[in-house]
Amino acid sequence: MALQRDIYQIFTDIVGPENINEEAVILDGYTFNWLVEFNPGPGPGKYMDHRPEAVLLPGNVEEVQAIVRACNKHGVKYKAISTGYGSHGFPQQEGVILLDMKRMNRIIELDAKNKFAVVEPYVVWAQLEAEALKRGLFTTPVQAGSQASVLANVTSGWGMNVMGNHGGHNGRNCLGVEWVLPTGELLRLGPEEAWFCGDGPGPSLRGIMRGHCGAQGGMGVFTKVGIKLHHWPGPPELPTETGGLLTGYRLKKAPDNAKVVTPSFKDYDSMTEFLYLLGQAEVGYAVFRAGEPDHFLSIMAGAQSNKTVKEWHESGLVAEAVKNMPHPISVFLFGRSADEMAFHEKVLLKVLEESGGWIPEFTQNPLFADMRSNESILTLVANDTHFIHHGGGFVIAAGYQGTPASVIKHMGYPMERLKKKYIEEGNIVDDGLDSTYHNSFDNNSYVYMELEYHYDAADPESVNAARRCVTEERDNDREEKDGFEPNDIALCIGDYTKTLQERILDMGPHYGNFHIWQEKIKQAFDPQDASDRSNYGVGLLAKDL
Ligand SMILES: Cc1cc2nc3c(=O)[nH]c(=O)nc-3n(C[C@H](O)[C@H](O)[C@H](O)COP(=O)(O)OP(=O)(O)OC[C@H]3O[C@@H](n4cnc5c(N)ncnc54)[C@H](O)[C@@H]3O)c2cc1C
Repeated sequence: MALQRDIYQIFTDIVGPENINEEAVILDGYTFNWLVEFNPGPGPGKYMDHRPEAVLLPGNVEEVQAIVRACNKHGVKYKAISTGYGSHGFPQQEGVILLDMKRMNRIIELDAKNKFAVVEPYVVWAQLEAEALKRGLFTTPVQAGSQASVLANVTSGWGMNVMGNHGGHNGRNCLGVEWVLPTGELLRLGPEEAWFCGDGPGPSLRGIMRGHCGAQGGMGVFTKVGIKLHHWPGPPELPTETGGLLTGYRLKKAPDNAKVVTPSFKDYDSMTEFLYLLGQAEVGYAVFRAGEPDHFLSIMAGAQSNKTVKEWHESGLVAEAVKNMPHPISVFLFGRSADEMAFHEKVLLKVLEESGGWIPEFTQNPLFADMRSNESILTLVANDTHFIHHGGGFVIAAGYQGTPASVIKHMGYPMERLKKKYIEEGNIVDDGLDSTYHNSFDNNSYVYMELEYHYDAADPESVNAARRCVTEERDNDREEKDGFEPNDIALCIGDYTKTLQERILDMGPHYGNFHIWQEKIKQAFDPQDASDRSNYGVGLLAKDL
């Protein structure tokens, strides 16, 4: 259903004819994305069911306000994306225009003394990292990759990140925001003319603005965000050269004061103990687990392509990794001096001894020696999106956040058993069993974990197996898992027999009826229901409350 001509003209007048488009060939580019095949429907499909009516590229906040006001006036819905990585960025109903924010791409301010930056929506992590490094600072990039938007993550979608052990969750790194409310009014959160704090003076609106998972485009448009930056003990630049296996480039030289260690544990209890002890000692700049064994090998040795990973499986290298490092975890150590580094290493070894962990000989294999440091640092900076596609499709069967013990209880052996079942069916990739992705926050005081697995997105049988696996995970020990934040809040996965909104209706009563409160907020802030609600709360099923 095309926009009425007079309305299309109103939008054209706002952004200019070169910044609006409604041709099918362009719009289809906004229907194809990660996890589309997980949307409920008659069968796994490759495209979203709905095209946006048009795509607009606003160039500044005034244009965004004008678009939003016009939408309110003329009964059109809108949704904003920053870089648009994932099907949660796209509308799931008719009558929605998409605001692609790529023209708003400036770092507005970087205050090294007070450790924050102010950025527009299309500034990506790589851009901010490069500027922060020069000033002895670093940021908190997500596994989605350093090509993803800082603002989208900090204001609107999740916030788990690899650097969280010392840098925290991005929901908390969010300082002030410039926010075009669903009605088109402009609201600035945080002290006027300063971006060091997101909440004051007066009552905080952070819960309404963002909450835990972000409003996913369902509460207006964010045009600027202040993000907290953190200390970086490494060099001000990280020069690269071509030839690295992992990304096609690598660091010319790993920083002298950085070290990557990959200890392993015989079981999940010892790993849990290790996390608590390491956290108490406040050691570990970053602590994370990369998913399945071939994923770890990709970090340690560098996977040039899917073919390399296949060869590792065929040569028995992955099997050897599983045997030698049954439950690995990566710890990045940084020291501001040789003495500090020596201290950190000593503490790490002591904590390993006390928790029953060890540094496997296997990780000292010359195959990994060169890459281990040069490429692993890149993993922090460039992040890992490039090596998770060897099955063609990748999904997470759960994503829980809480204390190490409470999360690992469900993400350890129960996940191994679940995954084994689907591997044995032959429909998902056999990548070794221990496959939990792990982010640590605030010295391991809380963690986030996902079960990651790979399937063939082009094979309906494989996609269906992947979808069944998610559903089965949700049903296992359901009562015990109440209280954890599962990823199907706002993400297009979960029980595939239900729509996202049906899942929220089902889940709400187990989570303090959050969906009812969210709906009240939505109606108060968006009386015309203009900001696309496809991924917000109970969304399209609000009438069933
Ligand atoms: C492979 C993969 C790995 C991922 N890993 C992580 C992870 O480790 N941690 C994590 O937190 N997330 C992760 N994600 C989820 C998500 O992609 C990230 O949060 C990412 O940072 C979003 O950046 P983006 O530019 O792609 O956002 P977009 O897709 O553009 O937006 C994300 C959401 O925010 C909304 N939005 C975007 N910009 C605006 C704006 N200006 N105003 C209002 N709403 C807006 C969109 O409508 C959408 O719902 C992952 C996704 C993928 C595909």
